Parts: sequence; C-alpha cells; structure tokens
Amino acid sequence: MGWVRGEMIGYGSFGTVNLVLPKTGFSKSPSMAVKRCETHNSASLRNEKQVLDQLGSCPEIIRCLGDDYSVEDCGRFYNLFLEYADKGSLADHVQRNGGRLVESDVKRFAKSILRGLNFVHSKGFVHCDVKLQNVLLFGNGDVKLADFGLAKRNGEKQGRFEIRGTPLNMAPESINGNVYDFPVDIWALGCVVVEMFTGKPAWDLKQGSNMADLLIKIGVGDELPGIPGELSEEGNGFLGKCFSRDPNKRWTAEMLLAHPFMAADDDDPSTSSQCYFEEISESPRCPFDFPDWVSSDESSSGENSSIDSWALDRIRELACDEAPNWSVCGSWISLR
Ligand code: ATP
Repeated sequence: MGWVRGEMIGYGSFGTVNLVLPKTGFSKSPSMAVKRCETHNSASLRNEKQVLDQLGSCPEIIRCLGDDYSVEDCGRFYNLFLEYADKGSLADHVQRNGGRLVESDVKRFAKSILRGLNFVHSKGFVHCDVKLQNVLLFGNGDVKLADFGLAKRNGEKQGRFEIRGTPLNMAPESINGNVYDFPVDIWALGCVVVEMFTGKPAWDLKQGSNMADLLIKIGVGDELPGIPGELSEEGNGFLGKCFSRDPNKRWTAEMLLAHPFMAADDDDPSTSSQCYFEEISESPRCPFDFPDWVSSDESSSGENSSIDSWALDRIRELACDEAPNWSVCGSWISLR
C-alpha cells in the first residue's frame, strides 16, 4: 500500500496516531488511521493487532485494517492501520458538550460500550483499559471500543504486580489481588458512566494526592465511587451493579444489557445533544493528571489504623518509592 502519514490526530503511551493519506493523488475524506511506534517498543501495538484479529468483526469494535513496518530517518517503525473515527473520542465529545452529557446520551454510549464489551468477553478477552479516550465516534453515529493494547485472555494469570490501564478506573481486585478478569471492565464501565454524566472522574481527588492515596481508596475499605445524585433511579441501580466490590457479585455485560437503564428508545443518534462548548474536560489523560481531590473522608491518618496490614503491604508493593516510568503507562508496568 502506498501511503504517507497525514495530520496527527492523537497520541498515547505507545506513540502517535495519524491520518493515512495515499502517496499519490489526494483523499477528500480519510478512512484510515495509523498507530505508530518504534519497533523495539511495539509490544502493546502488536498485542492490539493480535487481539483484534482474534476478535473478528463487531459493529462496536474498531476495525483493524492491517499492519506493516517502515524505515524512516529516525528508525524502524511498526504501523497499525485502523478504520478512522472521524468524530474523535468520547472524551473529545464530552469536552465539546461542556464537560458532561445528558442522561439519554450517557445511556446510548453506555449501551454501545456494553455491546462491545459483551462481544469481547464472549470471545474470552478482557479489554483492561475502558475509559472515555478509548471509545471512538463516527459521523454515522457508530460508537466503537478501541485501544486493545492491554487486552488479555480472561483467567490468564499475571506473574508480577502490575497496573494495567488507568489507575482511576481500576477495580478493587486488580489492586488487592492483581486480578484482571471480565469484571474489571464492568467496574471501569461504571467509572466511565459517572464521568460522562458529571464530567469528573468517578473518584473525587484532592490536590496533592498521590498514587498510594488513590490505590488505598480503591483497594481498601467499603467506599465506592460517588453515584451522581441527579441520575435517575435506573441509572443508580445500574451503577450499583457495576460497583460491587466483590467481582463475583458484579453483573456481567450480558446482564447489564438487560438492565432497565439500558431499556430505552435512545438508539437514535439524531436525538443526542448537539451543543458544543470549549470548556476543558477534567477527564485524566495520564495517571497523575488528577483534578482537585475532594475526599469524603479527610481523616486519612485515622483511616490507616483500620487497614489490614496485608492490604497496606500490597498497596506498598504497587506504589513503591522507586519512581515508575509513567511515559510507558499504556504498557505493562512492573512494580517490583
Ligand atoms: P493511552 O496511552 O491513553 O491508553 P493509547 O496509547 O493506547 O492511549 P489510543 O487510545 O489507541 O492510544 O489512541 C490515542 C488517541 O488517538 C485516542 O484517544 C483518539 O483520540 C485517537 N485515536 C486513536 N485511534 C483512532 C482512530 N482509529 N481514529 C481516530 N482517532 C483515533
């Protein structure tokens, strides 16, 4: 295929995302995007390709259009070609809508993500990085789950302690037991629903919080992400099923698709809100991109005394003193 890199449309921990343009002639409406990184750092992109190939076709999953290698002045690159989502990410959409979405839109997007997750889970895979930035939108109204760089087989055990995906959307069992199975995607979906509705991450964070504070908050105790007060009763119930601390009690994607919150006439994209604002979303772009933290429990020193020592040891293992290289946060992070 004769192609050249066009405008950069995104970036992540792996590298950059660009439009793909034909080498000769010109394309009025680009239909392909390329995720690109140096070959020696391409494990996550190659994993994405393998997973997408094994998943096969689903209307709610981004389509992979092939891969290749290229040699450029600055090195050898791995290129992963994907269908181009001309409306950008759901994070962009929330931002354009003033930082939050109306409930009917939240439902519509949640339903598409759930359908995608249901498909991914039915094939035995866990996405592991469900967040607003990884949901892509198309002009025809399609909503697709993307970024399978961290996806893995359900039940596949990790030998080392790892943080996969966005710490803010991590499920308690990932922090406490290094477990990344189907239910982690459901917990993260709950976080995404809260973030769409409020424009803020599901966990309230105050300035000066560090990774250990966040991991303790999620991993230890009974606290749950805040459920927005303005959300309907159905929405409340839905989030309750996503935010069960016990992964065995958390509902599956299939069960949630049958939840009353999902039963609605909101599949028509023409009914979605179309007003655009320039307000900046508080959606985090990286693990340390926290907005102000408003803790519902300020007595952190008292809190620590009630924490089981095993849990604290586990948190210490994850949030070690050794500074991790967050520039590669989209890949596996080995924390000792
Ligand atoms: P992170 O490190 O945040 O997990 P990542 O390194 O895995 O991100 P992606 O999430 O796949 O990278 O892509 C980064 C951004 O690039 C997306 O949020 C989106 O804005 C844009 N993007 C990625 N793929 C496409 C695509 N196929 N069409 C349009 N935009 C895309």
